[in-house]
Amino acid sequence: MPIVSLTNVSKAYPSSDRGAGDVVAVDDVTLSIDKGDVYGIIGYSGAGKSTLVRLINALEPATGGTITVDGVDITALGERELRRVRGGIGMIFQQFNLFASKSVKANIAYPLKLAGWSKPDIDARVTELLSFVGLGDKAKAYPEQLSGGQKQRVGIARALATGPAILLADEATSALDPQTTHEVLDLLKRVNKEQGVTIVIITHEMDVIQTIATKVAVMEAGRVIEQGDVFDVFSAPQNPASQRFVGTVVKGIPSPSELSVLRERHAGRLVTFSFRDGSTSQARVFLDLAQEGLEFELVFGGINDIRGRAFGHLTLAIRGDAAAIDRALEIIGERVEVTEISREGAR
Ligand code: ADP
Repeated sequence: MPIVSLTNVSKAYPSSDRGAGDVVAVDDVTLSIDKGDVYGIIGYSGAGKSTLVRLINALEPATGGTITVDGVDITALGERELRRVRGGIGMIFQQFNLFASKSVKANIAYPLKLAGWSKPDIDARVTELLSFVGLGDKAKAYPEQLSGGQKQRVGIARALATGPAILLADEATSALDPQTTHEVLDLLKRVNKEQGVTIVIITHEMDVIQTIATKVAVMEAGRVIEQGDVFDVFSAPQNPASQRFVGTVVKGIPSPSELSVLRERHAGRLVTFSFRDGSTSQARVFLDLAQEGLEFELVFGGINDIRGRAFGHLTLAIRGDAAAIDRALEIIGERVEVTEISREGAR
């Protein structure tokens, strides 16, 4: 059952340039986020990610299409009903957006006050949230006394205060160092697992998606150019732009500069074999090459793990009769993905 679904959604802004056409920030996007998903939205700056999130959050109206949140078509609602929808969605930000003049406790209590909770209920809820995010001793501290990771924990506690079903994270770890990023991602995993909150993560950091997301949509120029299970998109990206993204974090794919070094150093044809769990064994590939009387050398490679499922890429320099190489690659190509990188560019 989708908790958020978008059907042919578009958002156009009037251009600031008079005479120029509208800026289409989100262009005909159809996607569906299931309850319990950790759904990643990835893309370069300007791809339309933040706009998409503002549409889901009902902060701005779409100019076309339908958006359903928790079964309610929000494109048809008035302001008063929209406020209720927004109340079911928590949000965290890159710059944390805490109130500098309020204590940690007052920051977390803020949405509860707005929602009209009683003081004893607020106190109990804040204590519970502080303990959940591991800041039980920081109730009286002020944001400036906290590290970036601690500030984001406060942000998460505040976003969860009223018990939303959905948490939107807009570049929530982009201002943090790698170690702190992982601590915050671990906390978000717990939010998803222990509290059953559906999480939508917008990021330009592929490793964040690899670590935490179950599904991913790749955006470019307002469109979703690829979407699916993270394992599928990372192990076999179909679109050239997703291949570029994935190539930056996936182990075993030579970068253009590594590729030119490989080409200089190794005679023979360079071929990358991509293995996914359940596909043929590497030994079988070596056997097929040997049976054609070919010589080969392993020159590049790496194995990736996405939540317990493995995939990898091995690049071999293959030498021997050209027709025999073609024959072997054709046989192997029936079972694993084969990419010849001797001449054309690498992925
Ligand atoms: P991302 O979050 O992927 O960096 P955005 O959603 O912020 O991308 O922006 C997508 C495109 O829409 C960009 O070209 C941006 O300049 C444009 N855009 C975003 N918000 C507005 C706005 N309020 N008015 C005009 N153009 C906007």
